[in-house]
Amino acid sequence: MSRIVMKFGGTSVADLERIRIVAARVKKEFDDGNQVAVFVSAMAGTTDQLVSWVEEISPLHDAREYDSVVSAGEQITAGLLALALQDLGVPARSWLGWQIPFRTNQVHGAARIEEIGTQDLLSRMENGVVCVMAGFQGISADNRVTTLGRGGTDTSAVALAAALNADRCDIYTDVDGVYTADPRIVPQARKLEKITYEEMLEMASLGAKVLQTRSVAMAMNHKVRVQVLSSFINEPGTMVVDEEEIVEKQVVSGIAYAKNEAQITIVGVKNKPGIASDVFSSLADGNINVDMIIQNETEDGNKTDVTFTVPDNDLEKARMILQSADDIEFDTILTDSNVVKISVIGVGMRSHAGVAATMFKTLADKGINIQVISTSEIKISVLIDAEYTELAVRALHTAYGLDAA
Ligand code: ADP
Ligand code: ASP
Ligand code: MG
Repeated sequence: MSRIVMKFGGTSVADLERIRIVAARVKKEFDDGNQVAVFVSAMAGTTDQLVSWVEEISPLHDAREYDSVVSAGEQITAGLLALALQDLGVPARSWLGWQIPFRTNQVHGAARIEEIGTQDLLSRMENGVVCVMAGFQGISADNRVTTLGRGGTDTSAVALAAALNADRCDIYTDVDGVYTADPRIVPQARKLEKITYEEMLEMASLGAKVLQTRSVAMAMNHKVRVQVLSSFINEPGTMVVDEEEIVEKQVVSGIAYAKNEAQITIVGVKNKPGIASDVFSSLADGNINVDMIIQNETEDGNKTDVTFTVPDNDLEKARMILQSADDIEFDTILTDSNVVKISVIGVGMRSHAGVAATMFKTLADKGINIQVISTSEIKISVLIDAEYTELAVRALHTAYGLDAA
């Protein structure tokens, strides 16, 4: 007997027919004698709809009411799945975040899990009940509903798997595993049998939304065995594992892209010690996450251009902060939100030279201009014109030998 946590994403519970298919899959694990906890997302498209209603009725909305509205979709699917299971003869019950409870901090819209009440769930599971839970939601210290950020049901599932010391956490989605690149834009992408936590963390944070970044960080910290697999076909998916479990390490394991970046150039900044500190501390004070950075001095050395990227929905706020900062003198600010960050990721990069050179040459051969570069131990990212996203990702996929045979 194993204790397993299963998570079904929005497309897996998109309609009643699919919820019945999910129920049959859960029943199979239950019939095999396992203790089963299940998390569901809202039906595909529901959360987007709820978010758009909130934004329409109140553009500068109260974050607590945002969470109250956008968490609603998961309540429906959790109840429906419990009913579908009961109809198959499986004892099942549904829980909302507050009923479990999933205690979080008060950062509405991006709350972090602090503590999970597992006692009731454990005794139910031991007594043969399948626990079906609404993902993406929790409750704060002041008893308000919170949500964990878009894609947060992945994190609900991994967090519970860690708290229950589960043997497995299976994330069912609309692809049959983690691929070398988003299979929607790279038809030649290959399914990976295994990927390391570290690579998955980079892939997710650099744009591959197949798992929410926080869920991967949590799995890595608590050594949760996460598998990504399809709810539509019956095949093993991709296991996220420790590096030691991978025998043949690839230099590059995957390519990711993120379109939600915007580039800012502060032109003609007066060049003096502490200027970078002034620019980036004022942005940090405004809670703006700066990602890639480059600085170019003018020929006489008196002025400098500082270019960096921020999330595109923070672009206007960043511009306002810089324009109103008294201690930063500059000629003008240029912005561009029509950019994409393309990243190549692989733990093998630590011991192989030439990965960056291949990236730059491949893009140059396609006539694609690189605007900013950033690197870390296991990834290289470049910022390019968004128009070339597919061309660049496909060309790099081929250049690193990742194309399916
Ligand atoms: P769910 O609703 O099940 O949580 P998501 O839409 O959040 O599903 O995540 C699955 C999607 O992630 C896939 O449909 C795919 O387009 C996208 N994706 C991006 N990069 C990758 C990748 N490297 N491997 C697999 N899927 C990827
Ligand atoms: N329904 C939420 C969303 O669309 C959470 C999730 O699906 O993981 O972001
Ligand atoms: Mg998701």
